[in-house]
Amino acid sequence: ADLLRLGEAIAQAEAAGVDFIHLDIMDGRFVPTITFGPLMVSAVRRATKLPIDVHLMIVEPERHIDAFVEAGADVLTVHVEACVHLHGTLQSIAAAGATPSVTLNPATPLVAIEEVIPVVGQVLVMSVNPGYGGQTFIPSALDKIRRLRALLDERNPTCRLEVDGGIKPGNIRRVVEAGADTIVAGSAIYSDDHRVDDAVQKLRDALA
Ligand code: ZN
Repeated sequence: ADLLRLGEAIAQAEAAGVDFIHLDIMDGRFVPTITFGPLMVSAVRRATKLPIDVHLMIVEPERHIDAFVEAGADVLTVHVEACVHLHGTLQSIAAAGATPSVTLNPATPLVAIEEVIPVVGQVLVMSVNPGYGGQTFIPSALDKIRRLRALLDERNPTCRLEVDGGIKPGNIRRVVEAGADTIVAGSAIYSDDHRVDDAVQKLRDALA
């Protein structure tokens, strides 16, 4: 979204019936890009009543848990690749009062997060390499989603399965049929080519 008009962009998404606001936090180290930090999360918190889903693409995320939860994150996602003590970090997120969520890059096998499945409220499957918006969905993510769905059904059936990266009206159905229940859309919703409400409706229509 246009950061100078973020309040407006959030209001449009809210009016279009989205279920949550997803914020991508990038630090210039875990990923090449830098976005913004807790100050932006607290500004967004004041702008919406929707749940805020914060995706930390940062090294040493354990150092910033309290700052992001206090800023208003309802769900806090950390990368397994960035956590030396993943289990402890997820427990700290829960203790701080947010839903602990873990994510993994396209090249990271599911086995890397298998042991923490019982302690998370969400697993996020990255369907692009993190760091930039507007990338193309990596097709092998579909098989990963299917395998994760089976694991969650067995070990933590109420856990959300979120997918982030390159989702559009043309592939959202396959992603949901593979087992995702929570979909992140960035450039599919915010673009100069279309209105936010039309874009959200197109995504929903693709699932009807
Ligand atoms: Zn994200």
